[in-house]
Amino acid sequence: MLNLVLFGPPGAGKGTQAEFLINSFGLNHLSTGDLLRSEIAAGTELGLEAKSYMDKGELVPDEVVIGMIKSKLESNKDAKGFIFDGFPRTVEQAKALDKLLKENDTPISGMLSLEVEKQELINRLLSRGKVSGRADDQDQSVIENRINVYNKKTLPLIEYYKPQGKHFGINGMGTIEEIAGRLKEVVGKF
Ligand code: ADP
Repeated sequence: MLNLVLFGPPGAGKGTQAEFLINSFGLNHLSTGDLLRSEIAAGTELGLEAKSYMDKGELVPDEVVIGMIKSKLESNKDAKGFIFDGFPRTVEQAKALDKLLKENDTPISGMLSLEVEKQELINRLLSRGKVSGRADDQDQSVIENRINVYNKKTLPLIEYYKPQGKHFGINGMGTIEEIAGRLKEVVGKF
């Protein structure tokens, strides 16, 4: 079983590259951002609560996203593996994920960390906002807040996976194909 954490700041290209990895390696895609947006679209109570955080560029509480991932893992027991995209985002989430995976005896194979310069992130998010209509991609101060939250709460995860020998830094600048090629080279060795 191949379990990958696709890691990187907002706008690093996680969703785009996840698609490529699903096709190449036959994995299930679990994006907490996508799951939360479906809850919002469906008008659920969970979605309503999550929206208030997402609109400000803050993280949704750990117990909410951990609960969502738990139920997805339980309902996909025969999967070949998973790509976790946008999750974990805090050390608390990473510990909870390890615990959940331990129950199935299928640990994380590696964390693929896409590295992109800050100005490039802002440019990508603003242009995505024009196309997707995502509110959190249209406001420069919300974008800046997401990047700050990432640096403060999410970046420390590198130090969680590094001592386990599971951190792989990937240059996230360049064309989609170039970056996909770099990912494939690393994942091919797992
Ligand atoms: P991006 O990576 O561009 O920020 P996402 O779709 O991954 O886009 O996330 C959008 C928003 O959803 C985040 O800003 C955050 O509010 C919320 N979110 C997504 N995943 C998580 C998570 N694992 N923990 C907490 N909040 C999350």
